Amino acid sequence: MLVSPFKIAYSFEKGQKQNLYKLIEKSPKYPVEDFKFQLLPYLPDEEAHSFTTVIIGKNNDDNYKKKILTFYSKDGEILRRIISTSDTSTILRDYAVKSGSVDKKSISKIRKIVTKFLDKNDFLFKLRSVEEQKTYKNLEAGKTKLQINKNVVYGDNINASVIEYPWVRSDIKDPSKKEIKLDLFVEEGVPKIVDVSTQNVSLPKDDKYLPFRFIFDNSVKRVAFAKFLLKEKGLSCLNTVVKVSNKLRDDVAAYFSEFENMLVFNPESQNDSIKLAAHEVQHAYHFAQIGRLGKGSSKYCQKSRNLLGEISDPAEKQQALKYFVAAEKYPNIDSKGSLMQDVDYVNNFLECDANKEAQKVYDDYKKSGEFLSNQFCFGDI
Ligand SMILES: [Zn+2]
Repeated sequence: MLVSPFKIAYSFEKGQKQNLYKLIEKSPKYPVEDFKFQLLPYLPDEEAHSFTTVIIGKNNDDNYKKKILTFYSKDGEILRRIISTSDTSTILRDYAVKSGSVDKKSISKIRKIVTKFLDKNDFLFKLRSVEEQKTYKNLEAGKTKLQINKNVVYGDNINASVIEYPWVRSDIKDPSKKEIKLDLFVEEGVPKIVDVSTQNVSLPKDDKYLPFRFIFDNSVKRVAFAKFLLKEKGLSCLNTVVKVSNKLRDDVAAYFSEFENMLVFNPESQNDSIKLAAHEVQHAYHFAQIGRLGKGSSKYCQKSRNLLGEISDPAEKQQALKYFVAAEKYPNIDSKGSLMQDVDYVNNFLECDANKEAQKVYDDYKKSGEFLSNQFCFGDI
């Protein structure tokens, strides 16, 4: 678990006894506008209104200093915190209210906190942890429920947990804390459960998607699920590169390229990760089948034919021919405006087929997850 320096600073304000750390400096809230030039490299994606700086020291070590730069929205919500320490790396933590709903009876809110650390070897920020704090307030009953989903990533190992805390209400004591803790190991891109412990929750016996339900970072989940599906479809031998890239057009959520033998996701896309991965893997399948017909000019198609062989089943062959015809008519998306407005794209058989397959996988994923989801207030695991 990561120690929050803010909590340490906060404890000083409260006058609590704190032996190890001391608050050296705490600025008032300054408007971002007045320091925009200096702050430019650090600003969060969402518009920041004000910021504070805090410096913390250690009582037994004069050389130790921890600097915390915090950005706030107009409403005072924390947007980003940058923590740099004299003896360890720099940490960048982004806060976002992912979604929420309000009606007369209840309020629900999901706050997502993503922590990245600066890797000193290549000067890139890498994912350390993802935390989703889900709160549900029943206004009529005056009680609140909190669920925290968390991933801490250490290379190929992911520590995952889902904890649903008991109802918080002054006049009742609810002992039903629910908890699942999992250690996942990512092997050739696909997560496997190596250790699991539960409290007041039963795990499903036969759910092949189980490890994916405990990955809360969209990019990690999309890549892992695509690799899993490629394997399921018998396409792993084609060694398709699966990755995320920030360089995609805003309206392109992901793509598969037979010429690059690459499946690429846009990390900013808000589309459902399961549907997105299943859609693109279906395109990878289309071109593998086209290759197995002896058609297609890419190395990917040739490789498919060589490694997977010719299609023998007549019905499968017929279907693959349909893929081939649709691929010939597929519009060149590079020269297009908005993709979703383009009928040649939207109505192309490859797109329709990929959407159908994505829906099928999504429905199966949701159905297999019902046993687990039904045990939690928030569901959707
Ligand atoms: Zn598509």
